[in-house]
Amino acid sequence: MDLRKRTWAEVSLENIAHNYRAIRAAIPEGCKFLGVVKADAYGHGAVAVSRRLEALGADYLAVSCLDEAVELRKANIGLPILILGHTPREFVSELIDLDLTQTVTCEAKAIEYSQEAVKLGKPLRVHIKVDTGMSRLGFLTAGPHYDQGIENIVSACRQKNLVPEGIYTHFAVSDEPGEEAERFTRGQFALFLSVIDSLKKAGISFEIRHCANSGAVVHYKETCLDMVRPGILLYGYEGGGALDLRPCMRLMTHVSTIKYIDAGLPVSYGGTYVTGRRTRMGVIPIGYADGLLRSLSNRCAFITADGPAPQRGRVCMDMCMIDLTDLPGVNLESLIEIFGPRQPADVLARAAGTISYELLCAVSKRVPRVYID
Ligand SMILES: *Cc1c(COP(=O)(O)O)cnc(C)c1O
Repeated sequence: MDLRKRTWAEVSLENIAHNYRAIRAAIPEGCKFLGVVKADAYGHGAVAVSRRLEALGADYLAVSCLDEAVELRKANIGLPILILGHTPREFVSELIDLDLTQTVTCEAKAIEYSQEAVKLGKPLRVHIKVDTGMSRLGFLTAGPHYDQGIENIVSACRQKNLVPEGIYTHFAVSDEPGEEAERFTRGQFALFLSVIDSLKKAGISFEIRHCANSGAVVHYKETCLDMVRPGILLYGYEGGGALDLRPCMRLMTHVSTIKYIDAGLPVSYGGTYVTGRRTRMGVIPIGYADGLLRSLSNRCAFITADGPAPQRGRVCMDMCMIDLTDLPGVNLESLIEIFGPRQPADVLARAAGTISYELLCAVSKRVPRVYID
């Protein structure tokens, strides 16, 4: 079957390369580059993206969980891989055998990982995660937690058979405008530096200190330290115009049916749209099971060769309708860009009240990825 018969996602590896170079040019020389390829590289295909990043000279990759790392190792990706999330102790032997780097988020986890590594008689490489204000994963260090936090990190780093290669933290609002966000981010960074300093005084230092996510790479250059950790920038979004990024995914479909509907008729489930005139209505084979958010219903347009076609009625599981009345040149089989270079995903994201990340990750398994090189 021709993959393009229904709905597909073109992924430009050239644009991944372009964005990689644009980010490299924006960070200090000698700074390591970790490409975040969790969630199947934000929907772009983790194996293809990781292969390209490896060829381009990236230093590290990050995924969310063990299964994502296994997929990359099976595809012969040799770069160091950091697992950002939790791995149960039962899988420490897999971490070690696949030469993966595990995040350690608290003292209890460090003890568990150490016990398993000791049993196996092998070292496990780890990065210490510090919570400096995100209030998610990591050793608590803010305010009254500081001394206890340092003590716990020291203890974690001294556990047998753990090799603490890195330390990192994560910013909560580095991509948000305004003085308050700036104060918060600078506060997180200052706390992180202070934690590193206190650990140094306790005789513990790290080869790789990292904290800069995409927002920080764009807005807080001083946070690059030894390595940056961008995700969304690689895929072409949230660069704030400063980086000349290119969207890497183009979600495409085509017109499968066209019919004329009289004025005054309800369209799709719930009849939320009623035709105001005799309407030339197109049906396109993409719905929320493909990742087209139902919350976009009646709130967006998709791009034809002759301009935008307004979407009408509720988005269904497998299809939805577009108004072609004013686009007589659009016919059966005509191509439709849902998002991509002509309509960046963040335009649709705003209409849905969400962020570009969610739209990219939502593109489902049913949608074949077609790599353009
Ligand atoms: C997802 C993630 C990133 C990348 O975030 P972007 O905003 O896409 O750059 C970096 N670090 C951690 C810990 C993450 O979970």
